[in-house]
Amino acid sequence: SVAEKPITSGHDPRFVRTLYAHVGRPNSWTLEYYLAHGGYEAARKALTRMTPDEVIEEVKKSGLRGRGGAGFPTGVKWSFMPKEPKTQHYIVCNADESEPGSFKDRYLLEDDPHQLIEGMIIAGYAIRATKGYVYVRGEYRRAYDRLTAAIREAYAKGYLGENLFGSGFSFDLYVHRGAGAYICGEETALMNSLEGLRANPRMKPPFPAQSGLYGKPTTINNVETLCSVVHIIERGADWFGQMGTERSKGHKLFQISGPVRRPGVYELPLGTTFRELIYDWAGGPTEPIKAIIPGGSSTPPVPWTDEVLDSPMDYEHCQRLGTLLGTGGVILIPESVCIVNAMWNVTRFYAHESCGKCTPCREGVSGWLPKLFEKIERGRGEPGDVELLENLLDNIEGKAFCPLADAAVWPVRGSLKHFRHEYEHHIEHGTCVVPRTSRWR
Ligand code: NAD
Repeated sequence: SVAEKPITSGHDPRFVRTLYAHVGRPNSWTLEYYLAHGGYEAARKALTRMTPDEVIEEVKKSGLRGRGGAGFPTGVKWSFMPKEPKTQHYIVCNADESEPGSFKDRYLLEDDPHQLIEGMIIAGYAIRATKGYVYVRGEYRRAYDRLTAAIREAYAKGYLGENLFGSGFSFDLYVHRGAGAYICGEETALMNSLEGLRANPRMKPPFPAQSGLYGKPTTINNVETLCSVVHIIERGADWFGQMGTERSKGHKLFQISGPVRRPGVYELPLGTTFRELIYDWAGGPTEPIKAIIPGGSSTPPVPWTDEVLDSPMDYEHCQRLGTLLGTGGVILIPESVCIVNAMWNVTRFYAHESCGKCTPCREGVSGWLPKLFEKIERGRGEPGDVELLENLLDNIEGKAFCPLADAAVWPVRGSLKHFRHEYEHHIEHGTCVVPRTSRWR
């Protein structure tokens, strides 16, 4: 039910890029370039011709859902903020993109930082926040440099600071560089980190709109989400809503990695099928594939079948397949890779990144899980280990303080559902069903 397919990163003349329109172009990160391409007109429109509530309504009407992975409706999230500010409100951009398989925000930050600044001005205006923070992943050095330079330019020309566009609305924007911890992408841990505290997650509720940064009403949005807002305000909610599927509106940045001819980022309407992304845009696999991880490492792998390939990539259809759209970071796992080995690799990532605050994550994700995988993978598995693994997953999922532990469980669960025989083969024969490969190590 894709209404239209007007957006992509390809060279097909029928398609027009929006979010990635300027990615890869020379000097696209400068204010001069941005203004020459209609920059800051959406912010001008919002601040001078719309009320904050009209901006929220437009975003709600567009159907935009959070592009950080969870897909929570953006306009609805904004509407949780108090309408009459009694205290400081904050808008925070989560630019701590760290999910393995996700790399879309990086190029928005590097090549189009003014697009994000404009999105933050609009969001700040809508939620009555006069201060904004961008939390940039520590390893994204170029993104940090380009963003800070863009903010300096914007201040110098009056696009940030006092009385923007003569509207009376003032907005200050700060950048904070992370130090390379995945947990800082969890929104409550991110706020603690911004406050100078150890990045342990906080309990939710209260949600950030009630008590966020420094205990004040706060909204946290992903980079792509905030950039999408610019185009929704510029072209209208109807333009955005005519793309995508019934409950997953608009276009999205899909990423594809693994053995495929043209890995990269593709801007496509939600509801594009896996087959179209993999074959039409990414040029097809370079070797036989056995599994697809649809939305970054925390989303369960699904088998390489016609049903999966013909499934639309949106929030609902991915759920129907027993997985999640997540960040839209598609990873192809080839036949030549052992699933147990691949999942051990994923497990080690989460074990390393757990903050250690709660017991199920510290003892389960960082302790039992990688140890059990190592035992099976090294050929020391015993009958009953698959059941032990399942029992372990049951004791972690839904019992930890934040979603990191669930994120460690879900890919393993998916692999057990579809590739259980590979675990059993390991235990029975002490080795992989496929010849050993070092690629996932
Ligand atoms: P979540 O569903 O708990 O929350 C999503 C957003 O909606 C949050 O901002 C939250 O505050 C808000 N929200 C949810 N329920 C609410 C309510 N009842 N009232 C008010 N606000 C509410 O998900 P999450 O823990 O924020 O994120 C999990 C997702 O993050 C996963 O799906 C994963 O795909 C993704 N992820 C992304 C990256 C990345 O690098 N982009 C890294 C790790 C995980």
